[in-house]
Amino acid sequence: MFENQQYLINSHLDNQYRIKQLIHSIFIKKIFNISDFTIIPKTIRSSLDKDFYILNLIPLKKNISKDGTIKFLFKLSDNNCIESVILKDKNNRITFCISTQVGCKMNCRFCMTGKMGFIRNLEYTEIISQILFLSSIENKNFNIVFMGMGEPLDNYENLYKSISILIDKLYFGFSISRITISTSGIIDGIHRLLHDFPSINISISINSMIKKVREELMPISKKNPIDKLFKELYEDYDKYKKRFTLEYVLIKNKNLNINEINEFKKIKKKDAFLINIIPVNSINEPDIEKPDEKHIKWFCRNLKEIGFKVTRRYRRGEDINSACGQLYWDNK
Ligand code: SAH
Ligand code: SF4
Repeated sequence: MFENQQYLINSHLDNQYRIKQLIHSIFIKKIFNISDFTIIPKTIRSSLDKDFYILNLIPLKKNISKDGTIKFLFKLSDNNCIESVILKDKNNRITFCISTQVGCKMNCRFCMTGKMGFIRNLEYTEIISQILFLSSIENKNFNIVFMGMGEPLDNYENLYKSISILIDKLYFGFSISRITISTSGIIDGIHRLLHDFPSINISISINSMIKKVREELMPISKKNPIDKLFKELYEDYDKYKKRFTLEYVLIKNKNLNINEINEFKKIKKKDAFLINIIPVNSINEPDIEKPDEKHIKWFCRNLKEIGFKVTRRYRRGEDINSACGQLYWDNK
């Protein structure tokens, strides 16, 4: 449907008007079967049908949580599977949580996707197909977070193309301010992303402010050390007037103590950050446990006292394993 496919479509469709009709049918009307494009003459439809398909994934399973969260398992053309989630918050705001890879290389200790290992990058068409499909289920004013399976900045080319298609008026015409990329903190990826899309929102999964602890929880931080990461974020804050969300998964006996608070105190530009606290969701690992409520509150209070704006993410969809870090597909 995009780029090199455009000339193929041109050879089937006689004029720009028809191409516009086709795009309208897919992106506005959410028609995904070429045979259902009734506004296009039947002869053209059947020749298109031979050469094209619209979505390159098929929904295998749909789980609906008590809180309204909906998780989809999609099968890809090579039989690998990915998950995507529709989240609804208390105010009925809709967010699509989109995957960028099958599995993940980063191997974070607390994350189910990390435990799966890495299988492959998603093509941009597979990323866009998730969004098209979810928008056919829930089409009112949604936001998009690249916070599903995988590390988006480890699949930059396909992420770049997907964002370009999302914001292109010809296709989705989506506002960049409604797109958030969540990353484990790949420094050159953050630099590149902001250069390409200065208005995009970025969340950094920080999870510890102490070098050694962070390296234990998130091995990728050995190559992307925390001091260099903050240097990049300070520079980006000055250059783009950009605030970052620091995602902090709280894990009992790991990253919830006064030493972490003391490291937070050392952050120079506190206005540049909003801290989002996420008590860890269960992944069936004995040493990855949720802290008790008293300690969670203590941590949040201390962060506020030293001058941070702090939010807390309540679990959504945990009963259907669609909460953060629970996206997983058993390929064995
Ligand atoms: N790879 C990207 C995006 C996918 S992970 C990243 O790491 O940011 C999305 C979010 O889920 C991250 O903020 C991550 O820290 C969080 N997460 C992973 N495992 C979790 C768990 N078991 N409980 C709660 N949050 C978790
Ligand atoms: Fe990958 Fe993000 Fe999970 Fe880490 S938290 S393993 S980077 S998906």
